[in-house]
Amino acid sequence: MAFRANFCRLPATRIGVSSPDRIRCSKVFTVRCSADSDFDPKVFRKNLTRGENYNRKGFGRKEETLKLINREYTSDIIETLKENGYEYTWGNVTVMLAEAFGFCWGVEKAVQIAYEARKQFPKHKIWITNEIIHNPTVNKRLEEMEVERIPVVEGKKQFEVVNEGDVVILPAFGAAVDEMLTLSEKNVQIVDTTCQYVTKVWNVVEKQKKGDYTSIIHGKYAHEETVATASFAGKYIIVKNMAECDMYFADRFTGKLVERTMMRKYGVENVNEHFISFNTICNATQERQDAIYNLVEKDMDLMLVVGGWNSSNTSHLQEIAEERGIPSYWIDSEQRIGPGNRIAYKLNHGELVEKENFLPKGPLRIGVTSGTSTPDKYGSSGVMNLLSTLIGN
Ligand code: SF4
Repeated sequence: MAFRANFCRLPATRIGVSSPDRIRCSKVFTVRCSADSDFDPKVFRKNLTRGENYNRKGFGRKEETLKLINREYTSDIIETLKENGYEYTWGNVTVMLAEAFGFCWGVEKAVQIAYEARKQFPKHKIWITNEIIHNPTVNKRLEEMEVERIPVVEGKKQFEVVNEGDVVILPAFGAAVDEMLTLSEKNVQIVDTTCQYVTKVWNVVEKQKKGDYTSIIHGKYAHEETVATASFAGKYIIVKNMAECDMYFADRFTGKLVERTMMRKYGVENVNEHFISFNTICNATQERQDAIYNLVEKDMDLMLVVGGWNSSNTSHLQEIAEERGIPSYWIDSEQRIGPGNRIAYKLNHGELVEKENFLPKGPLRIGVTSGTSTPDKYGSSGVMNLLSTLIGN
């Protein structure tokens, strides 16, 4: 119901669209950082980033930290695949790896800065406002390093636990403006690992706000990325998928439809006055999507998609394989495979499925990819588990 009520806000004077070809529609919610209409999130953030208690560049330990990260997260099996044109045969199993997969630049940098923060502040209490990235193993590793997640009670983060002088890490996908405001008032050391491509999206919605556009944000409405982006927007709606969208629109609500509607209303010559679109997908996500489109063209028996279950970009990789009718198994860790020939996996729409005898007998061709938050080691652990299951089969 909130969705319908808020949709009435859409016919604002102008509409800004985040992705021109795949607009998705979802429940609308309103998250604002302040009831104060004079509050300007951009100005606030700019000032925050200039403060002495703010760091987003790391602490001069890049080389040693990257060595450690490589030790912890790279994999021989992935190296073998890369060295052999992304395809290699073990026994009667051929594994084909997507040519772009796994850790992206932004994720690697976020993990690097978080590791550096632990070294820089060995005795400080260190908090993080959410998962650093969408990977359970990397998050667990940070927990082991005593980087603690701010507790959440009934959906609300308990910032009361944070004390002056503590260190607080903002994850790769950023934090909402109200969280940054709370933290700056507490006078803590902020270590900001927000990816620069995420802040680029914030800048886009900022611009749309200034032009009095309504921003259409494509994403899951409860996702931290979406919440953070919405906190920089003025008027906005959040759209998730075509199914939800069809509940509210007679036709498919795509960027092109919005554009056509605007053309009818205002005339072709004036459409740019009322409609703007930005493709905000980052290079890393685009490359992984392009790579899986190439991979699904190959002959294969099944696909293994490795990545955190709350990772949007991994979900899209699974979606592409499902759309092609390939039996595709989205796992968040290798532990989802086994015991025996058994797997617990997610489908793109979120259903958790358990399947016995998922690996057929005989020679197999398996496609493998992973989301931007997945270190090589965990993608390859999935492959290793598949191989050992097949050998024992
Ligand atoms: S997927 Fe893109 S936006 Fe997200 S962290 Fe990686 S580079 Fe940044």
